[in-house]
Amino acid sequence: MSATPQGPEAVSNDAARGSLDTPVAGSGKVARLLRDASGRIDLKSLDFQALQNWVRDELHEKPFRARQLWKWMWQKGARSFDEMTDLARPLRERLSALAFLPFLHPDLILKSDDGTMKFLWRLEDGFVIESVLIPDDGRLTLCVSSQVGCAMACTFCLTGDIGLRRHLKASEIANQALQVQRQLPEGTRITNLVMMGMGEPLHNLGQLIPALRICLDDDALNFSHRKVTVSTVGLVPRMAELAAALPVNLAVSLNATTEEQRRAIMPITRKYSLEELLEACRQFPMPRHKRITFEYVLLAGHNDSLDDAERLCGLLRGIPAKVNLIPYNENPDRPLRRPADAVIKAFQHYLLQKGMNTSVRATRGLDISAACGQLGKARQQAIDQGWLDDARRIAGLPTEPR
Ligand code: SF4
Repeated sequence: MSATPQGPEAVSNDAARGSLDTPVAGSGKVARLLRDASGRIDLKSLDFQALQNWVRDELHEKPFRARQLWKWMWQKGARSFDEMTDLARPLRERLSALAFLPFLHPDLILKSDDGTMKFLWRLEDGFVIESVLIPDDGRLTLCVSSQVGCAMACTFCLTGDIGLRRHLKASEIANQALQVQRQLPEGTRITNLVMMGMGEPLHNLGQLIPALRICLDDDALNFSHRKVTVSTVGLVPRMAELAAALPVNLAVSLNATTEEQRRAIMPITRKYSLEELLEACRQFPMPRHKRITFEYVLLAGHNDSLDDAERLCGLLRGIPAKVNLIPYNENPDRPLRRPADAVIKAFQHYLLQKGMNTSVRATRGLDISAACGQLGKARQQAIDQGWLDDARRIAGLPTEPR
């Protein structure tokens, strides 16, 4: 048994890291999962407009049925059509013959000493993905995955080691928020969603957009667009497509101040240069008083000097920006090191005294491998270290998945 996602048709890393302009193998696989073997449609991967069309064209029902179905799926979290008691039985039977309602199967739930929780979900084809819930200063932020693995191969990130296995369906993205929310005590609500889990969200824009529409709709998951953030390594053309589709916050994973330095840790820079990325940020339509978040993983001896801090200020000049410094979370597999606290402080101090809105991200969930750049290997660690069954028992889950 392996915890790194090993589905039936795992895509090789090299194939997955091919051109972003051509469909990756992950796209074909996710397309196949949108209908099951009997041709039934995954109803939870449709946004409301698509659901309305389906109700009209395939279910041949009145438009109000779409709103009924939508609320049952996303407000009430119905797991089957039989629960939809205000629909007549013959209609429920027809729905069951034409469509299905996918859910994520809880595989493992881990709780950190600092209150951070990590949820591992088993998908219908056997892959495992992770979401992380972070309580912080009155906020409850859910970090959501958008792909199984990732094609971007950033050197500081363990998820990149997996390569891209497939994109997630819209239902698999939005169900992370729905299912975590339903596990919380009455009156507790996820306040913020960040698309910063496993995967590069803009690489899966086709499924990300309907998933975000589900998250933002008043009659579905009802998150404010001000509380939803999409992170990207800088897939330049897709940044504009995202902005045209939805008004959400943007976070850019920058991590370097020269082309050469960025290319060394983020292969995407070979396709879209730092200069092109910053120009796309300048063009990104931001509401007044809003800023693009620039994430900057601080790596000792690589990008943590005061010269870097000075260049960073220069690069971001003219962009409504805030900088989130992320001291690297060390991993025994990597030669990369976290800078000393004094270096981190000096870097932040330089930016602050230049008037740059800057924060240092507190490391959260380190003891359960839930911190930044650590997602995708928890299950394998649990197996290797022999505590998978115990952890499943503690979480109230059967020791044999499903
Ligand atoms: S940092 Fe993000 S984009 Fe880069 S490899 Fe990790 S998951 Fe992918």
